[in-house]
Amino acid sequence: MVSRVIPVEPFDLVIFGGTGDLARRKILPGLYRRFVSGQMPPEARVIGAARSEFDDAGYRNEVRDALVEFIAKDKLDDDRVAAFLDRLHYVAIDATGEAGWSELADLMRENVVRAFYFSVAPSLFGALAERLHMHRIADADSRIVVEKPFGRDLASARQLNQTLAEHFEETQIYRIDHYLGKETVQNLMAVRFGNVLFEPLWNAQYVDHIQITVAETVGVGGRGGYYDKSGAMRDMVQNHLMQLLCLIAMEPPSRFDPDAVRDEKLKVIRALEPVESRDIVRGQYQRGSNSASYLEDVEDEQSRTESFIAMKLHVSNWRWAGTPFYVRTGKRLRARQSEIAVVFKDAPHSIFGEEAGRHRNILTIRLQPNEGMTLGVTIKEPGPGGMRLIDVPLDMTFADALGPDNDDVTDAYERLVMDVIRGNQTLFMRGDEVEAAWAWTDPIIEGWQMRDMRPKPYEPGTAGPEESAMLLHRENRRWRAIRD
Ligand code: NAP
Repeated sequence: MVSRVIPVEPFDLVIFGGTGDLARRKILPGLYRRFVSGQMPPEARVIGAARSEFDDAGYRNEVRDALVEFIAKDKLDDDRVAAFLDRLHYVAIDATGEAGWSELADLMRENVVRAFYFSVAPSLFGALAERLHMHRIADADSRIVVEKPFGRDLASARQLNQTLAEHFEETQIYRIDHYLGKETVQNLMAVRFGNVLFEPLWNAQYVDHIQITVAETVGVGGRGGYYDKSGAMRDMVQNHLMQLLCLIAMEPPSRFDPDAVRDEKLKVIRALEPVESRDIVRGQYQRGSNSASYLEDVEDEQSRTESFIAMKLHVSNWRWAGTPFYVRTGKRLRARQSEIAVVFKDAPHSIFGEEAGRHRNILTIRLQPNEGMTLGVTIKEPGPGGMRLIDVPLDMTFADALGPDNDDVTDAYERLVMDVIRGNQTLFMRGDEVEAAWAWTDPIIEGWQMRDMRPKPYEPGTAGPEESAMLLHRENRRWRAIRD
């Protein structure tokens, strides 16, 4: 398969927080993979920036260690690693002080794309933006990349947007939601809008309901302090699950262009109805045979923060009137599994009679493991014995379909970083989208706080609290299995 990758221009990418966890685990390994696949122009440079004192050689050693830790052994090649490390520089800098800024200004080149990845705590964004301008390091063509969490409520997200807007235009700001960088998520748009088959059926008349599941097996681990202040609603639903829901529910944009796509997503968020408390289940994992409980993990016996949430949502517009969207996400569940399932309605009349049973088309979009899509279709069971119906999957696993060279379904981060260099904002959240998502989320969280609601306990290794199953059972539906 000949790949037609849109080339990127030469760039200087500065990673503020270039020594941190995200840079080591995701950003730098992602850049290495792009380098190896020949998608980094020869003049491209990456500049790490943080307070720790390193020279270029010391930083390269650090990054070498990170590559060894986070890249599969068979993908590491000494010569390529050395060539990649040659592109790396380092400046010791303090976001809140004056140290290092003039060195950075001297290092930056003219006539290349300048991008600044803010891989630091959000409390430093304002100081970074201000100093980039004060030292004339950023100009009208520069791009900045910011990470989640983008605020913890509407007020703080607005404040963050205002801080960034003091120094950068919206067209320069790239708010990362790495779910949008996943191959399958983009393929969802290709399947919906590139085929004639699906779009006519993509509405309340033919879709019974939609399920979005993001299940994790891990607990909060070492992130207990951070997680306990956010919980599943802030950490996962307000951003990742909301973005998935938008891509499923949005109207066809007029073009695959950043504002056309983001305008349609924004309309979906604004059409979300407030959720009644009977349509929400919150949970906390209990102690397992060899794992601590949520309360033990966060070292707070009184914590009311949810490690699991399931909700029934309604998108109140013509297309989706009456079609529920069930979303759930949680930690310490049975398996690591993220998927969207579009469950179509039964055929209006069965010519095969009662005994043929009930068969439904389900389009499953798997984000992990094994990214891909499956369409369940009903056929006759082969062989003699009369007309018996069975459901078979029409499977499209991308790694298979794209051939052996694509065994690494490209990691979301590297795709997104290259989109920043290309200046393509389609897969990044716009400021008004983030604010609209918080405007919908805030009253729900405030309601829990006012009523001092305690999450329901659930056993680790299950699909969450019993009450989550009831959310669908009471409407004669059921969650799709979370399988090992
Ligand atoms: P981290 O491991 O704590 O790293 C923070 C980085 O910021 C370090 O490189 C640190 O280096 C640097 N730093 C701290 N204070 C600084 C200052 N005053 N001036 C300049 N540099 C400073 O954090 P992280 O996990 O990489 O997270 C970075 C950002 O990504 C955060 O906004 C986080 O919410 C977000 N994020 C992280 C993950 C993840 O998986 N880690 C996932 C999603 C989002 P020095 O101490 O040497 O200065």
